[in-house]
Amino acid sequence: MLGQMMDQELLISNIIDHSARYHGDTEIVSVNTDGTKTRTNYAKVQARAKRLGSALLKRGMQRSDRIATIAWNNYRHLELYYGISGAGLVCHTVNPRLFPEQLIYILSHAEDKVVFFDATFIQLVDGVRAHVPDIKHWVLMEARNEELANQHDWIEFYEDLINEGDSEFNWPADIKERDASSLCYTSGTTGNPKGVLYSHRSTMLHAMMSATPDVMNFSARDCLLPVVPMFHVNAWGSPYAAALVGAKMVMPGPGLDGKSLATLFNDEKVTIAAGVPTIWAGLIQYLEANNVKLPHMQRTVIGGSACPPVMIDKFKDDYGVEVLHAWGMTEMSPLGSVNNLKNKQLDLPEDEKRTIRLNQGRPPFGMELAIFDNDLNQLPNDGETQGNLHCRGPWVLDEYFLAEKGSTLNQGWFDTGDVATLDSDGFMTIRDRSKDIIKSGGEWISTVELENIAVGHPEITSAAVIAAKHEKWDERPIVLAVKSEGSNISETDLLTYYDDKIAKWQIPDKVVFVDQLPLGATGKILKKELRSEYENILLG
Ligand code: AMP
Repeated sequence: MLGQMMDQELLISNIIDHSARYHGDTEIVSVNTDGTKTRTNYAKVQARAKRLGSALLKRGMQRSDRIATIAWNNYRHLELYYGISGAGLVCHTVNPRLFPEQLIYILSHAEDKVVFFDATFIQLVDGVRAHVPDIKHWVLMEARNEELANQHDWIEFYEDLINEGDSEFNWPADIKERDASSLCYTSGTTGNPKGVLYSHRSTMLHAMMSATPDVMNFSARDCLLPVVPMFHVNAWGSPYAAALVGAKMVMPGPGLDGKSLATLFNDEKVTIAAGVPTIWAGLIQYLEANNVKLPHMQRTVIGGSACPPVMIDKFKDDYGVEVLHAWGMTEMSPLGSVNNLKNKQLDLPEDEKRTIRLNQGRPPFGMELAIFDNDLNQLPNDGETQGNLHCRGPWVLDEYFLAEKGSTLNQGWFDTGDVATLDSDGFMTIRDRSKDIIKSGGEWISTVELENIAVGHPEITSAAVIAAKHEKWDERPIVLAVKSEGSNISETDLLTYYDDKIAKWQIPDKVVFVDQLPLGATGKILKKELRSEYENILLG
């Protein structure tokens, strides 16, 4: 017997239709590429997304064609999210920080038909165009500009396309919730980047869960500023989750430095933000140097790499901002776990609560996590045993885009490539990426733990720990560290700082002070580069 409820598909267009209907005048504030601000709202975003979707269909785009964006977080990018997916096409967000060869690979592999790009990327796009001849439309996300049009006859203009669109357009009625809606490529630190093809259903379920109180806790009273780029796993799904609840949104454009962010946070009364630790380190430096506070900000989601405990403490103690430490992956839309306490933990002593708040948190409904040994035996959730972290759920990848079928999963589980512990309450601690963890004399050493200690030193601004080859122990940890301005900290000072914080045999063998650490396209430290430069440093 079937249930007798209305059979409605879960579609991305439902989200923007809902926010236009009930939160139509809620503001979307957007910083443009030239630094000016545009103020729009959900009603206008929906109307323009419809025109854009209809203009793309008029240009001959077919169901599930991929449409690429190379853009900052701004209102036109938001219109593209909804216009492209709403029209039954696939919104393929491309990371502009990739090398041109990777960009060409991704645009070709995805078989994109159109590329939308911000003015910042004109040269980048011009440089790759000849290598992707099948892309027929290159659309600058600006109003028509005759000077640019004369200089570059290949450029089309976004506002011209919007004007071509039909204001009475209805989203195609035959789109199904399992149809593809958007596409992101993994950062590809090993081999070629791989495509993750999300569906309307996976995106909607992820957005609905993301907004709940134990996850990102979005409401119509919030003002969200996603610092995490819309090309990094769809800004962690936040443009969908925020629209779903009708939160005000502030799109920061290209200015992600401490000063630009602090000004936006305070001018627009931002209550919640989301981003990777490196961004927040820049913000905190600015706030401290200029004695600026964040009176409106309540929470910030930090993930993408491990959030150092010192950052969680600083946000709480100095700025009254609660850090929600989150873990996820492109392959998981991305949310896998977020740290929030349970009722039974509320009366624990402060230091115990603090300790719990440092790890990567618990999976929400819809996400299942488990750890396995190398022979795929499931390991206990005792908070101590560490193993290969696997996950499954309706917003977890089944197969990579255009990859060999059946190659991805282990008995229905996706292997995340992370090594973690899980406790009986579901709290998970990432020990390392499996390829970064250090094996010293048969014992594991977590680089995350050693980095957290190093950045806890007041004179260290960032640090990376890697495995260096060792004649006796196979591998030993070494630290690459960046000193804070004016600091005279020595190698011995930093090594002594480890003394009472960790077992003696885990203390790194060496410190190398560097001016900066190499960052990848999504703001994560490129340990592979560091390993190739420093891995022989302990050999005679
Ligand atoms: P990406 O798909 O580029 O977002 O990278 C996903 C990977 O980032 C994960 O597999 C983790 O190794 C790492 N990661 C994400 N969030 C965290 C976190 N909170 N702590 C430690 N590692 C993280």
